[in-house]
Amino acid sequence: MTKYIGAHVSASGGVWNAPKNAHELGATAFGLFTKNQRRWEAKPLGEDDIRKFKASCDKYGYKPEQILPHDSYLINLGHPEPEALEKSRRAFIDEMSRCRQLGLTLLNFHPGSHLRKISESESLALVAESINIALEQVPGVKAVIENTAGQGSNLGYRFEQLAEIIEGVEDKSRVGVCIDTCHTFVAGYDLRIFEACEQTFAEFSKVVGFEYLAGMHINDSKAELGSRVDRHHSLGQGYIGEAAFRYIMEDTRFDGIPLILETIDDTIWAQEIAWLKGLACQTEAAV
Ligand SMILES: [Zn+2]
Ligand SMILES: [Zn+2]
Repeated sequence: MTKYIGAHVSASGGVWNAPKNAHELGATAFGLFTKNQRRWEAKPLGEDDIRKFKASCDKYGYKPEQILPHDSYLINLGHPEPEALEKSRRAFIDEMSRCRQLGLTLLNFHPGSHLRKISESESLALVAESINIALEQVPGVKAVIENTAGQGSNLGYRFEQLAEIIEGVEDKSRVGVCIDTCHTFVAGYDLRIFEACEQTFAEFSKVVGFEYLAGMHINDSKAELGSRVDRHHSLGQGYIGEAAFRYIMEDTRFDGIPLILETIDDTIWAQEIAWLKGLACQTEAAV
C-alpha cells in the first residue's frame, strides 16, 4: 500500500473542478466540500454534475478511498436543542446523500458542541444517535469523525470522546475517525519530536484503534501545545515542526487513507505535497 497525499481543494464552479485542482498540485488525494460549507441549503446535484465529477475522477485517477469530503461547518450533531438538532441531522443526511450520489464513500465532520446546555456525555450520545440515523438512511458512506481543537464547547478533542461516540454507533464498520495533527497538538497531545509522536499515536491506538483511522488532516499549528486554539500553519512553520510529518510519512499505519493538507498558504501546497511524497518515497525505497 501507499500514501495518498493531497489538499482540501476548491470545488468552486462545480464539484467536478476539484479533481482537476488536485491533479494540478500533484496530489494523490484530495478533500472538498460538495456544497457551500457556510450555508444550510444547496441546490441538489444534477445528473450532469455527477457525471462530470465521476469522469474527472477517472481522468485524473482518483478513487473513492483517495477522497475525503468535508461537511458544512454549520452542522452540530450534538446540539442540545431538539429543533436545531433536527435541522443539523437533516443537513447531515443531505451531505451523506450527496457523497453517495458522487460515488464517494467517506464523509468527514466535526462531532458537535454541547453549547454548555447539556453535559459532554449527553452531547456525545446525541452525536452517536445522529450517526446511527444517518447511516440507516444513506447506505455506502462511512461517517468519519474528526478530532477537534476543543475550542469553546466543541467536543472530540480527547481520543476518549471519539471512542465514546464510536461506542454508541451500531454499525462499527461504517464509522471512522480523521485525525487532524493541528487539532491533536492544540488539544494537548505532543507531536514535536519522534518520541512524542510514538506516545501520542500509542495512546490513539489504545483508546480508539488504528482500525478506525479513515483519514488525516496534515497541518502545522500557529497555536501552542494544549492551547485549544484552532489555527493552522504551513508544514514546518508552526509549533509542531517537521518531525511529526516525517513520522507519519514513514509509518505504514497511515497508508491507504487520504492525508489532506488544510494548511494556510495554498500557493505552496504543491511544494508541501512534493515534500511529503519525498519522505514517503524514501521509506518505501528503504523497505
Ligand atoms: Zn481538519
Ligand atoms: Zn482546524
